[in-house]
Amino acid sequence: MAMPDKHVLIVEDEVPLREMLSFGLQRAGYRVTESGNCAAARALIADGRPDLLLLDWMLPDVSGLEFARALRRDEATRDLPIIMLTARATEDDKVSGLGSGVDDYITKPFSTRELLARIEALLRRTREHQEKLVAGAIEMDTVSHRVSMHGREVVLGPTEYRLLKYFMTHPERMLSRALLLERVWSSAYVEERTVDVHIRRLRRVLEEHACAHYVETVRGAGYRFSPKAAGNGP
Ligand code: CA
Repeated sequence: MAMPDKHVLIVEDEVPLREMLSFGLQRAGYRVTESGNCAAARALIADGRPDLLLLDWMLPDVSGLEFARALRRDEATRDLPIIMLTARATEDDKVSGLGSGVDDYITKPFSTRELLARIEALLRRTREHQEKLVAGAIEMDTVSHRVSMHGREVVLGPTEYRLLKYFMTHPERMLSRALLLERVWSSAYVEERTVDVHIRRLRRVLEEHACAHYVETVRGAGYRFSPKAAGNGP
């Protein structure tokens, strides 16, 4: 069973192979974008993060392995699922070695059926992993929408829930009010002050559960979610 609506980016410079892969994946219900080198792939990822990357080892600009390592170093793509396409057993040894940052690899030649099975397995693992968010003492189940702090269940309003979810998936970075409005409210017609109102509500709940220090104000700029910040336990 394919996972429809999932977006796969294929990075492969060999055009006939790329087209064959693209055809097979689209027929299985995936949305596919293609690129022949890492520079173009990087631009495509910046435009819209794919759900999975099919990455060839031998590419004209940067090797797939180097590219995978660079993606792992970048917080925005650290968790991007990657399957590497390798040509030889010697490459497999290197890819399977520690530190390559690749989730799985498949040796050419391979059947579309085999590749689809690998893709599905990796997407399933990723989804199970992503259902539960943890940041310090806060746990969030994104399927049941249950939130707990220090093990105690917490009830949040819908906006506070979305705000906290965005914070938990974007920790340790400065988030401007404008960005939060765009990502959490998906609207340009809401005033920036609205962000502060909901931050206050969220903070009140965090305070009640000894997590007040998680949301920091960055003066003149916005907010930062920092589960690592020093604070007192419950
Ligand atoms: Ca190649």
